[in-house]
Amino acid sequence: MLNEKLYILPQKGVEIHWWGKDLYLFINRQTYIKTSRMESKIISAMRDNIIGRAAEILKRETHTSIAIARELIELFLKEYQEYFIEAEYSRGEFNISGEKGSYYPLELHVSLTNKCPQSCFHCYKEATKCGTDIDTKALIEFLEKTKGKVREIHLSGGEPSVHGNFREIIRALEGEYKINVLSSGIGIDIYYKDIHESNAVLAVTIFSNMPKLHDKLAGKEGSYSEIIQNIKSAKENGISVVVTTFIRNNNVSDILELIDSLECIGVKAINIARIAPLGRAKDYDVQSDFSIRQEDIDILKEKIKNLNNVNTIFEDEEENISLPNSIFSCSAGTLVWSINELGEVHPCGVSSVNGMEIGTIRDADLFSSKYRKMYIRKIKDFRGKNAGGCPFVGL
Ligand code: SF4
Repeated sequence: MLNEKLYILPQKGVEIHWWGKDLYLFINRQTYIKTSRMESKIISAMRDNIIGRAAEILKRETHTSIAIARELIELFLKEYQEYFIEAEYSRGEFNISGEKGSYYPLELHVSLTNKCPQSCFHCYKEATKCGTDIDTKALIEFLEKTKGKVREIHLSGGEPSVHGNFREIIRALEGEYKINVLSSGIGIDIYYKDIHESNAVLAVTIFSNMPKLHDKLAGKEGSYSEIIQNIKSAKENGISVVVTTFIRNNNVSDILELIDSLECIGVKAINIARIAPLGRAKDYDVQSDFSIRQEDIDILKEKIKNLNNVNTIFEDEEENISLPNSIFSCSAGTLVWSINELGEVHPCGVSSVNGMEIGTIRDADLFSSKYRKMYIRKIKDFRGKNAGGCPFVGL
């Protein structure tokens, strides 16, 4: 029996998002449920309304009786009980991102600049100390339009804090988005107040637990000690830190030691990734990295399993979801869009391929159904090309 005075809220981690005419429930970004038209009406009616009021709204919207509206809500809650909870109070509308009939991504990756104080051996952007900063005014105007529609923003580079207006940009996002700052870890500490107050997560890369080896791979002397120092200082400033490291041939024991070192300084999230043969890594012998012995992987997985306080994942264990009629076999160009330092909007940040761009941050109509149809027509020729599971690699 329904308690008409209760609110219904999505479980923590469940995200609700419009993609065109369809409302999706995303469960931890790994799986999704496309709701029916009636289910989407029920979810919309329950937003910031006690069940009794939601039933009234549903009755009006569907031209049905109040008894049927209540029954529909009851059936919905039974079916979706894993994803919603009952609550006596609501702190305002629960978040439904996107917009009915439009095509907003869940996540935007913004490269603020292609300048960086490091010159990592694997850098897909081939970042150097010289380069271009994104136009601040155009970016902020664009991000005004995506407020309340897009949930998450990743600020990257190059080194994002090298952008002359980094502070202004992160402050413009404060309270409106879940923010991740993808940094080299060099020189970022002067913005810790802004990062903390924006509730942003700081993500940095460490290649090795051996300072000299890390410095060599990052192309900067003293990089390891500065990054470690900046991680400690970030933790002291109440900032959550995620560290990415890369599995290479014969570096499993190094990663094990790195995990121990990071655990000691309070890092709670470590991401183990593989190197993609893009940018500067094109010359790197990626093939030999893929011949990593299974027994080494097993050792690493065993270690990860036994960690109590650290959440460690292999990047390739994350499922990459694609929506029905997605352009690619992952979320690129649908749920995730990428903006480069020139203000071009691409489906994927890893490779900005000419001809595949969705548009620019100055295009007014970027999220409309009309624009989406035009875009799908424009890129249909690229669909057949698919190297190693990714259409961008090899183009
Ligand atoms: S820190 Fe990032 S942007 Fe800078 S060189 Fe390394 S990979 Fe490239």
